Amino acid sequence: MLELRNIIHRFPESSWELNIDRFSVSPGEVQGIIGPNGSGKSTLLRISAGILYPLAGNVTLSGNELKKLKRHTIARQVGYLPQELSSEYDFTVEELVRMGRYPHTKGLGILNSTDITVVQQSLEFTGLEDLKKRRLSQLSGGEKKRAFLASVLSQKPGILLLDEPASALDLHRQVHFFRLLRKLAKGKIGVAVVTHDINFASLFCDKLLLLEEGLCLAQGPPEKVLSRGVIQKIYGKDVFLGKHPETGRPTLLPALTDKKT
Ligand code: ADP
Ligand code: MG
Repeated sequence: MLELRNIIHRFPESSWELNIDRFSVSPGEVQGIIGPNGSGKSTLLRISAGILYPLAGNVTLSGNELKKLKRHTIARQVGYLPQELSSEYDFTVEELVRMGRYPHTKGLGILNSTDITVVQQSLEFTGLEDLKKRRLSQLSGGEKKRAFLASVLSQKPGILLLDEPASALDLHRQVHFFRLLRKLAKGKIGVAVVTHDINFASLFCDKLLLLEEGLCLAQGPPEKVLSRGVIQKIYGKDVFLGKHPETGRPTLLPALTDKKT
């Protein structure tokens, strides 16, 4: 389990600070991190991944302090997909996915038969088998996201931290992607996903954390977090709060006319 406690972080130019009492990612659950642009979602995820050290507070992985662990030890347990994806070299999809296995190899990055099977599974899981010889520069935004996700999956982490992983996908692939997250959680992986799509978060996540200007406005099951009061506070009267016809989960729809006047 990944656990954050009493986290405080502040950037020099910022007018507010990130302040999170408790956030944890446990095996088998999908956690959604939602909130307006610039509310601190990516910062929270970077702190969870051990990429950014907070000014105060504790981050632990199975009880061990994250900052005391070696990078490759963290990489075997935590897979992190940043919001902005970049690679210094124009790898093929297959090369990128093979690189995800490096934390498990001893030094030289030579893959054994288990590693190769995992690489193959990650390519299959993300539907990239047909594209495996393509270079990153030859992929669409959505395909590139899937390639980096496949690379993170081949790390076989127990915890997956994903920052806007579905933002470049069309609706059909977004649905497919979030179903995939549920499948991963079923396999006892703990997933935390940052998304600005509140409806997807509501439908596919077990719990949500709603951030605004670095503060946690609400935390818990979607039904609790996406209450009328909270929605009104963030969006005023610009959205309707309804229920998904299949699941009854809170669902937002845009209001057509301006009801403020
Ligand atoms: P979100 O992911 O919710 O859009 P971020 O966590 O990326 O928000 O950013 C939260 C705030 O912190 C923003 O105002 C952003 O400009 C600021 N910020 C993020 N990273 C840095 C940084 N490395 N240095 C200074 N300010 C930063
Ligand atoms: Mg962000």
